[in-house]
Order: sequence, then C-alpha cells, then structure tokens
Amino acid sequence: MLGSIIGDIVGSRFEFHNIKTKDFSLFDESCCFTDDTILTCAVAEHLISKLSIEETLRKWALKYQNRTYENGEIGAFGKGFLQWVNTGVSINSSSNGCVMRISPLLHINHDQQCLFKKADEITKITHNHPESLNAVHAYLETGFMIQNLIPIDQIKETISDKYQYNVHQSLDEIRPLYNRFYVQCKNSVPQAIICALDACSYEDALRNAVSLGGDSDTLACMAGGLAELRFKIPTNIIANAKKYMDKDIRKLIKMFYNMHEK
Ligand SMILES: [Mg+2]
Repeated sequence: MLGSIIGDIVGSRFEFHNIKTKDFSLFDESCCFTDDTILTCAVAEHLISKLSIEETLRKWALKYQNRTYENGEIGAFGKGFLQWVNTGVSINSSSNGCVMRISPLLHINHDQQCLFKKADEITKITHNHPESLNAVHAYLETGFMIQNLIPIDQIKETISDKYQYNVHQSLDEIRPLYNRFYVQCKNSVPQAIICALDACSYEDALRNAVSLGGDSDTLACMAGGLAELRFKIPTNIIANAKKYMDKDIRKLIKMFYNMHEK
C-alpha cells in the first residue's frame, strides 16, 4: 500500500512528460501525490473502519476534487469516476482506476477466495467491466503468489495462462511502442506486473515503470504495490516520499500499518 503511494509520487511528474530511461531522480519539486494515492487511501480506510467502500471513495474524492496539483491539473480524477462520485451512476469503466487503488487488500486477506470476493465488491462499484475484474484478479493473484514465495517464472506462467496477459515480454521489448495513452487496465496491468517481477529492488521496480512511459504515476503505483511485497522499501525513500504527503494521508498510512503489520 505504501509501495503504491510512493510509486504514484515518483511517477507523477512523468505522466505528461514520459521518459524512456531508468536514469532519473526519484524525487524533485514537481512530484506530487495524485488520484492513485487518494483512492488507495480510500480503500485502506474502508478496510480498517466501519465505513462502506462507497462512503470512503466519496469522502476522499470530495476532499481532494478541487485540489490543484504541481503539474497544473485540478482534481486529477477521471471524468467517469467523478460522475459516479456526484451522481452515483456507475461508469462500468475498464480503465486503470480499479487496479491503482487495490493494493491495501494484499495486506489484509490471505485467503485467495476471500481476496477476490472483497476485490469484486470494491471494483464493481465503478468498474463493473470484465476487463477490470480480470485485471484486478490478475494483480492480486500476482501479489498473493509473491507473498507465498512462488518462483517468478511460475508466477508468470500462471498469470499468462489464467488471465491471457503477455507477461513474458521484456521491458526492452515493451518500451519503444508504449505511450501515455495506454490507460486501459489490460494495457497497464501486465506491464506493471513485469516491472515488479523483473526488478532487483523496490526502487528498481519504480525505475522500470517510469522507463516505459505510459500512464507513469499509475504504472509506478501498481508496480510499487507489488514490489513492496518482494522487497523492503528503503527508509530514505519512505522519508523522502512522506514530504509530499499531507497529514491525513500520513495518518491513514500509519493507522493501516499499525493494524496490519505482518
Ligand atoms: Mg494519477
């Protein structure tokens, strides 16, 4: 969960300025947290409180919907998501939003069937689309296998067979054609999984994600949420990332990990 939020902050400055290299500063003054962080917090709060997922998604979205970001964006939520916030009409989207917010679940449910059931409840509210449910399951099953120390090759086999995702490509093969308009989860989740599985450290997973281009904050958020399950996040990276969070986000993260520290 923290791994996702840090990925969002690191990737934020590259969403509209894609780069194709792993050589960059993790943090600079134009980094910020975006909708990925906000809605990850919403899911986390739902999991540790008595509030429904509808209540927490709305609460966090309304709190930040008029926020101006360092990159000039306001609110930064997708149009369809805001439509749901304001009218309750489901958008049945197949975009990245359903996966970018889901990593807190990996810290809570350790039975795969429970995990999928809870994930479906959270996802269907706004993303009741077969591609979205497939992507959320693929992401969570990858995390679940990492936590159970399944070898990387075997994880790739399972995700490829079960979800029809090509996770056997190398990052060097993906990178040349990948661009920032890949915002559908079927075009982001396989790539994020590869970024995390092919990494040699937490930091390396974020660098992999940013180096592809695409929806950089979301790709790094998704990859970071999985990489956190494989590697310890270095304390200096956590300390740096915290400078970009506000007190409510820091407080929620602290409460979440206090309740679910493994
Ligand atoms: Mg974002």
